[in-house]
Amino acid sequence: MDHFLYRNGILHAEDVALPDIAAQVGTPVYVYSRATLTRHFRLFDQALAGMDHLVCYAMKAASNQALLAVLAREGAGMDVVSGGEYARARAAGVPGERIVFSGVGKTESEMRMALMGGIRQFNVESEPEMALLNAVALSLGVVAPITIRVNPDVDAKTHAKIATGKSENKFGIPIARARQVYAEAARLRGLDVVGIDVHIGSQLTDLAPFRMAYRKVAELTETLRADGHNIRRLDLGGGLGIPYTRGNEPPPLPVDWGQVIRDEVGHLGCQIEIEPGRLIVGNAGLLLSQVIYIKEGEGRHFLILDAAMNDLIRPAMYDAHHDIVPVVESGLGTPEVPMDVVGPVCESGDTFARGRMLPPMASGDLVAFRSAGAYGAVMASEYNSRPLVPEVLVDGDQFAVIRARPTFDEMINRDTIPGWV
Ligand SMILES: *Cc1c(COP(=O)(O)O)cnc(C)c1O
Repeated sequence: MDHFLYRNGILHAEDVALPDIAAQVGTPVYVYSRATLTRHFRLFDQALAGMDHLVCYAMKAASNQALLAVLAREGAGMDVVSGGEYARARAAGVPGERIVFSGVGKTESEMRMALMGGIRQFNVESEPEMALLNAVALSLGVVAPITIRVNPDVDAKTHAKIATGKSENKFGIPIARARQVYAEAARLRGLDVVGIDVHIGSQLTDLAPFRMAYRKVAELTETLRADGHNIRRLDLGGGLGIPYTRGNEPPPLPVDWGQVIRDEVGHLGCQIEIEPGRLIVGNAGLLLSQVIYIKEGEGRHFLILDAAMNDLIRPAMYDAHHDIVPVVESGLGTPEVPMDVVGPVCESGDTFARGRMLPPMASGDLVAFRSAGAYGAVMASEYNSRPLVPEVLVDGDQFAVIRARPTFDEMINRDTIPGWV
């Protein structure tokens, strides 16, 4: 459920009419609903009620400081994958003890930064990383709390680019080698092994792969405990999918996922962490855009928008579907026409949808891409020298620009021409 609804035929974000935002900020622009964001965070928090747990928002899904601040005030932890994300989380008021650090390529300076600033745990993904982290911790005279990310070799049944739990993926250590790696970790004095981490992929719409992975983690917990390790924390990753297409059967709910967690690992007495990203912010944001032209092709109608692949890359990158809706509702029974929805960028990959059934539209009309809050603005670029897309946060009847659109001068002045040119 989200808070983007039609009122008197006009699409609103909470109590704000989207045309008002377009008029004031211009298009394209991302618009987030605070109420939806907090609602989705709380659904995860409630899904684990009664268990010792922490919801660590995977902030790579959307990392604007205002969004992080909203979640920080809800008590969220953060899952970060870079020094930049760590800095953002801290700047938004998230204490170090609520931050977990994931990623296959943590650098020495990132380790140093998190160890000195405070960190809940590193989710270590390889033996070389383990060795380096140990050395960095010893050099600072501290002990680094770690889990080891295991790769359970489970097929998440999602898009290949976002599946992470098969043995051919770069993530984690093979679960079959876990005992050996844990034994090695226990010998390193700069590390404190606190638990196990697993994350098998993103946009999962079936609970079975989660269940399979968590069952393997539960077995491993027993094995490692028998080996003498004090396994007291399980980080179970993120990945629950969102309904991108209205009318399709919706994916399982956070509470259903929570039940799988209770079933599979509830008896172990471990502290539970989860790292949802997409489901917290995905349906809390949309991309608002304006029609530039309607162009009649050879047997095709092109809807040319002022948003492009540089603003929302998911359709080009993941063949992703986003519902595209007119901001001003068309009358009941208005016949729809198949349109190819495209942006102005100079490549054919800049296509949001082909043959999408839409009501008749004219230049100047506004459209909204639904479910664009996750992996939207964070993946935007300035390709074709289109200034970085701005972001707006709505709360009830008020809204604020939370990232301004750069002017052409601001964009150009980030570059420097060397004196010798
Ligand atoms: C991307 C990622 C997540 C979040 O996945 P979602 O599908 O957005 O919930 C969680 N944990 C790790 C380690 C990730 O890389």
